[in-house]
Amino acid sequence: MPDERIDSVKKAGRILAEARNYGATLVRAGERALDVANAVESKIRELGGEPAFPTNVSFNHIAAHDLPDHEDVRKFNEGDVVKLDIGAHVKGWVTDSAVTIVVGKNDVGEKIKQAAELALQNAIKLMIPENTIGQVSASIEKTIRDAGFNPVINLTGHGVGQYEVHASPAIPNIATKSPYVLKEGDVFAIEPFVTTGMGMVKETSGTQIYRWLNDRHTRFPESTKILKIAKEKYSKLPFAKRWLVKDAGVTPAKLALVLRGLVEIGSLYEYPPLREVSDALVAQAEHTVIVGKEPVMVTA
Ligand code: MN
Ligand code: MN
Repeated sequence: MPDERIDSVKKAGRILAEARNYGATLVRAGERALDVANAVESKIRELGGEPAFPTNVSFNHIAAHDLPDHEDVRKFNEGDVVKLDIGAHVKGWVTDSAVTIVVGKNDVGEKIKQAAELALQNAIKLMIPENTIGQVSASIEKTIRDAGFNPVINLTGHGVGQYEVHASPAIPNIATKSPYVLKEGDVFAIEPFVTTGMGMVKETSGTQIYRWLNDRHTRFPESTKILKIAKEKYSKLPFAKRWLVKDAGVTPAKLALVLRGLVEIGSLYEYPPLREVSDALVAQAEHTVIVGKEPVMVTA
């Protein structure tokens, strides 16, 4: 029987892998983060997919959820540890993958990147029916600690669904007693984060990512217009502030005010950048995997 869900996940995964590999080649000293994010998102569309969320380009001690703003001038420098975290969907079926790129030379950066990749590979081998998430999480923690580093304890892997980036259950990066038993055909994103620091993140300023939550009345016509675009164009998926500059025809300054207001009244959900609490370097590796006797790494 054809399975539209699995076929779409596999197609989205192939598109994502190609866009990610292409994007990674563009992360070089002197290049702009904004150009890389735009190039990755264009590549996903060119290959027949849609971005499932804005391309995260997180530098050094920012673990996730950073991305370039409209007309952002940030460039990559020698020694930067850059996380490129990308989502693609086909018919709403989401895939999610991330890679760490060390720009030029950074020995510690290389080591934490390798630990994240090894933790991911070890975890994927355990994505077989009847294993529990607790076993997968324990493996992630052990691999990272054996390498001499710390996992980020308040970031997790997760299920993925149709028009849903973060579905339950979570896959923590530290040993837990999670009793969830993996089933053939389950789709999960696994994403170990490795740091030389304490291993926790907290929200910081400069939010660029939002998601529509619900329609609430507002007195401002710009707010009503932006909420309508958020709902109709991006549905339940996260979108970037910079995408709306073109969509809404308002100035970036006005847009920032409107978005803040919509978050305050509960119409939009925001995803602030996540900073490692001890300002230490963070590396991440992520793939989307279909559980099976032979786990399928759809974003390989
Ligand atoms: Mn991701
Ligand atoms: Mn993820």
